[in-house]
Amino acid sequence: MGKPNRTALRQLIFIVMIAAVAILSIMLRWLDRPTPPTRTIVKSYGISTLPPTPATNTVLTPVDKTPSLTVENRHSRDSAGKSEEFPVTSTPNGTAPSPDTGSSQSAYPITPPEPKASVLPSNSFNQEIAVYEEPGSTYFIPTQFHGKIVHRIAPIENEKVIALTFDDGPWPRTTSQVLDILKHNNIVATFFWVGQNLQAYPKIAQQVVADGHAIGNHTWHHSYRQMDRPTAVAELDKTAELIYKTTGIRTALFRPPGGILTNGVADYAKQRNYTIIMWSNDPMDYRPLSAKELVKNVIRTAKPGCIVLMHDGGGNHYETVKALPETIQELQKLGYRFVSVPELLELGMIEN
Ligand SMILES: [Zn+2]
Repeated sequence: MGKPNRTALRQLIFIVMIAAVAILSIMLRWLDRPTPPTRTIVKSYGISTLPPTPATNTVLTPVDKTPSLTVENRHSRDSAGKSEEFPVTSTPNGTAPSPDTGSSQSAYPITPPEPKASVLPSNSFNQEIAVYEEPGSTYFIPTQFHGKIVHRIAPIENEKVIALTFDDGPWPRTTSQVLDILKHNNIVATFFWVGQNLQAYPKIAQQVVADGHAIGNHTWHHSYRQMDRPTAVAELDKTAELIYKTTGIRTALFRPPGGILTNGVADYAKQRNYTIIMWSNDPMDYRPLSAKELVKNVIRTAKPGCIVLMHDGGGNHYETVKALPETIQELQKLGYRFVSVPELLELGMIEN
């Protein structure tokens, strides 16, 4: 009697299962009209993450919003960087072109030196300003000389120290000849470079630094003209950045072309805490004087702590090169020791 009953039970179970599947499929088809999963996501997202945004702002909304905030921050940083208060050197396009629009101006190859700017988080804006406020220096310059004009210094105990300086290079032939003479005599000097000459002769410049000499900034165009602020900024900062890009040297030494302190560029350099390096010994090698006369002129006005003005660039300085060995010898005979300008500044007080 068990067997027929069991068969009937199996048939019953089968029928019930079929019915259940049929009912389920009918229910599913009925429920299929809306899209419940999507709707649920939108709703839960809206509640947990989004402030009162309309339901139409779906999942993509917060993703769109993040980059737009970042772009705003960058704009505000850039515009601040270009302001007069903080003439950031890393934005060469932000500085107005110089009146001397030579080919060097348009061909100026400087890339932003501080890639930090685009990487920094938005709240580090103040740090960025702090970095650019100081010129920065590879050389130690005593704080008493920051932003000051120096013609010579008063060395401690009147030590016979003297600083030879060479302006307007780098320059083909002459600079290398000067380097050879300095090396032969085992002495260091200081070179004040013109940006456009540095751009033309980077290899010569690198040799100057490799030989251990100090470097100063002598503007980009060597112009004597009155400069408005953007021009002064460009003249000084572009040259500073090219010096850094070419040699890795950051210099806070500045010498105004022609020694002119009133045309705007020296004022800007002072504001940037550069030390304005003038001279107290001028043999006048920019005039057609013989080597003999140049030697005599240097020796006649030599004093402890003095700074000698000479030129290795900007024209023909054959007589300067010719006068140099004898000038060195004569000064050594008088007991002078040759130092770079940064070394000189460490040895004494300002005496103008
Ligand atoms: Zn000069």
